[in-house]
Amino acid sequence: MSKDNLNPKNKLISESLTVKLNTLANQLRAEGKNIINLTAGELDFPTPLYIQKEIKSRVASNKYTPTSGFLELRQSLAKQMLKDYDWKVTHQNVAVTSGCKQALFESLFAILKKGDEVILPSPDWVTYRYQIILNDAVPVIVPLDKHFDLDVEKIKKAITKKTKAIILNSPNNPTGSVYSKEKLLQLKKVLESQKISKNIFIIVDDTYSKIIYNKSYHSPTFFVPNKELLILVNSFSKSQALTGWRIGFIVANDNIINAISAFQSHTTGNAPILSQIAAIKILEMGDKTDKFVKVLKQQRDKADKMLRGIPNINFETPKGAFYFFINVSKLEKNTLKFCEGLLKAGLALVPGEAFGYAGFVRLSFSTSTKNLIEGIKIFKKFCEDY
Ligand code: PMP
Repeated sequence: MSKDNLNPKNKLISESLTVKLNTLANQLRAEGKNIINLTAGELDFPTPLYIQKEIKSRVASNKYTPTSGFLELRQSLAKQMLKDYDWKVTHQNVAVTSGCKQALFESLFAILKKGDEVILPSPDWVTYRYQIILNDAVPVIVPLDKHFDLDVEKIKKAITKKTKAIILNSPNNPTGSVYSKEKLLQLKKVLESQKISKNIFIIVDDTYSKIIYNKSYHSPTFFVPNKELLILVNSFSKSQALTGWRIGFIVANDNIINAISAFQSHTTGNAPILSQIAAIKILEMGDKTDKFVKVLKQQRDKADKMLRGIPNINFETPKGAFYFFINVSKLEKNTLKFCEGLLKAGLALVPGEAFGYAGFVRLSFSTSTKNLIEGIKIFKKFCEDY
């Protein structure tokens, strides 16, 4: 069958760059080579025991739930918003989704018209671009500053009559940076003072908001002047080590939530029932992410120290999430090629091209200490010999 017989939109999405590297990694493994994988976008911990226990006793639950999630869960999430962000909402402002990815897609679907522009501070998590394009809108890429903080002047210049939304992701994937309070305040001023900015939606992706290593973190949520235009997307994936359970949520104006519920009712339906039960338990027990963060911080510090010893590379110490975004452009600007070579040397990293940023590589420290040490040793030798 010819590909031309398919929806032309398929062509707008290219296969992820990492797939190419994964294929090479599998091939090398089949040849008996040991590959250290520092590409993980998830925690290296098993499902917390209290969640396992809860689910074991509820495994007989098998029916559809309301499309937007159990009322109890939506109510608990609404309460959590007050606690976390001092944001007063009700369950009518909350929809439960199958992970943050779905939350993001549905939010974009609910607000975007053909030709609308969405500002993306970059490096950007690659899914944003594709989801914007799939919704017939245009991603407007605005570089972050040299410390991977917001460049508010550049954002201000990028705003046009067509700007429908800005996506803010702090802590950030892939850079591990957090946006400073100063820059968030500056952005707030721009949103308040410019006539043209007053109707822009702010989509805050707080996926990593619980994985932070310094006290100066502020969620962008606090700096959105008009809460009617705030769309918060988040999930239990990274903070609770539940990536495979597919459980996330959206908090927004009730018109948006109603649109999302209708969309969801004709696409995936409700988020998995057992995952919703787990989420209710997590909110009831209070946050336990600190335990993970403690281990991750040790990993970060260990990696930071080892990486400092490598010549010709530059990086900022990550303040959140679990990634180093390392500038290797003095050695090689084509980081896809660089990562292919590195893979043959026994280490998998994600090339910056995957985030629109050639010349950088992303190293995840969410792995065992042994793997991390071995991986960075390979990286060091590879850089020294390059
Ligand atoms: N946002 C960001 C910034 C992410 O890094 C990820 C996962 N890599 C997601 C959203 C998606 O999270 P989920 O697994 O909950 O869909």
